[in-house]
Amino acid sequence: MSQIRVAIAGPRGKMGREAVKMVQQTDHFELVAVLDRKYDGQLLSDIPDFPGVNVPIYTNIDQLFQNESVDVFIDLTTPEVGYIHTKTALMYGVRPVVGTTGFTNEQLEELKQLAEEKKLGCIIAPNFAIGAVLMMKFAQMAAKYLPDVEIIEMHHDQKLDAPSGTAVKTAQLIQEVRSPKTQGHPDEKETLSGARGANIEGMRIHSVRLPGLIAHQQVMFGGEGQSLTIRHDSYHRGSFMTGVKHCVDTIMHLETLVYGLEHIMD
Ligand code: NAP
Repeated sequence: MSQIRVAIAGPRGKMGREAVKMVQQTDHFELVAVLDRKYDGQLLSDIPDFPGVNVPIYTNIDQLFQNESVDVFIDLTTPEVGYIHTKTALMYGVRPVVGTTGFTNEQLEELKQLAEEKKLGCIIAPNFAIGAVLMMKFAQMAAKYLPDVEIIEMHHDQKLDAPSGTAVKTAQLIQEVRSPKTQGHPDEKETLSGARGANIEGMRIHSVRLPGLIAHQQVMFGGEGQSLTIRHDSYHRGSFMTGVKHCVDTIMHLETLVYGLEHIMD
């Protein structure tokens, strides 16, 4: 297996730390640099928690790509900078694997066109956990028969975007098999704004943010005299890394943008 040279943005973050560990532990991956917003010019090993990881830290993405030879760029930052990073990586001919959530549809469309133009793989995956991908697939199957559905996503209280990328992705998959439909009583009124959650073609999404949570989602379906709940829980951020690893391997053979891990799972 040929060596894949990887750079990671957001290495001190909760996801970034796991990604550094995963890349270090994978024989055919080589961590060549990280992109942070602090510690320019230092080595990652100079920072507590990264003993022995002797790779340079850059705060300027152009300098990183000009100085280092990178095959795959993993972004685990925030939506605003993550979008700029992804675009810049593609401009430099580097394949991005993006876990950062919260990109707009316009941004996704622009990145798709750029990836096509450059003939470069780009994977944007709102959820790298294999179990979460299965939850979304099962929810899509169920929605065909039980179109009354509410999505409740629950995350730690440091999460910046709401609803979660996974909830939006789940709703989009359900939209493919469900016609728009008003749910609840036709005359229902919110006496407190937001009580019924976000509305996507009549489907409701509720976002819970609490300390102690990691990433959880349940999709609830109701039918005549019955209900079905499909639930997935990530208890540790390590749960996302098999997905990240699969993306880094797969992206080397892609020439377009793929949105969602399910499209690269058999
Ligand atoms: P986090 O702990 O807040 O980490 C984000 C990191 O990005 C921080 O270290 C932050 O630095 C850094 N950062 C901010 N601006 C930057 C910049 N301009 N350049 C370089 N680094 C910068 O968040 P997290 O929980 O790891 O999540 C990161 C992203 O992944 C979020 O968008 C989250 O929604 C997403 N996520 C995706 C999945 C998935 O499966 N796809 C799973 C979990 C989370 P500071 O510490 O200095 O602010």
